Amino acid sequence: MQLTSIFTDGSVDTTTGTAAAAVHHDEFAALYRLPDNSSTLQTELLAILRALQLAVPRDMNVTIHTDSLGAIQALQTVSPKDNVNLITSVLATAKNIHDSGSHIHLKWVPSHTGIPGNEAADLAAKEALSLPQVTAPIPPSISQIKASVRRISHEQAVTCLRLWITNPTSSAHWYNTTRTNTTPFPRNIGRKTRNALHQVRIGYKCLTEIKGTLSLTCCHCNVETVSPLKHYVMDCPATSDMLARGHAAAKDAIANTSHDALARLVTHHPPPR
Ligand SMILES: [Zn+2]
Repeated sequence: MQLTSIFTDGSVDTTTGTAAAAVHHDEFAALYRLPDNSSTLQTELLAILRALQLAVPRDMNVTIHTDSLGAIQALQTVSPKDNVNLITSVLATAKNIHDSGSHIHLKWVPSHTGIPGNEAADLAAKEALSLPQVTAPIPPSISQIKASVRRISHEQAVTCLRLWITNPTSSAHWYNTTRTNTTPFPRNIGRKTRNALHQVRIGYKCLTEIKGTLSLTCCHCNVETVSPLKHYVMDCPATSDMLARGHAAAKDAIANTSHDALARLVTHHPPPR
């Protein structure tokens, strides 16, 4: 019987994420480009799978050489947890060949030691990196799917956060300004006072604003207002001597009044609700 040697190799460009595989035989070479960000293991397994598929119709006794211990180990795993599709495809193809009376050997060879077939497969796999399009679509591995989910949810969180921070009408903008207040927070203040202090620093909306209902009557001076918090900080006579007024915006008054004074303010004159 004719004995055939096939060398396989995979290649991943870690800078661009491009991935490829190649099969080298004395008479031919086959080059494959995998989806970007495929793993080294996937490229090696794909190369072995294609080597088997090329061998089947030729009905030969084949020795497949790989320099990937990882691929050999993956193929020996009883219940693989990942790359199941690739691994079972390799094993099923090998079984078909075996059932048809041919023999397959999978043999490990050390890489970069001058074995001509291995060097040729290595070169071919690198060359396959520049194929213009994917020629060997494979499903992503579970770890790749998990990584994508993590990456996408992170990106979305960042996008939401950025919108939230840059939106000039949001309370985030108010908070960003009041945060420039560097005076120390008063010690030993009660929870109620602390909460009220945080409330005015966040620039919360009052219930009447959220509901879009009627204006609110200030409980300190009985004036009707549609922006209760702004009135409280900027206009209310009851709070005037405790705030650094004279700024263009209410949030600037908060930013320029010491936290001690703000704590006294919210204790004596609770902010609107
Ligand atoms: Zn008032």
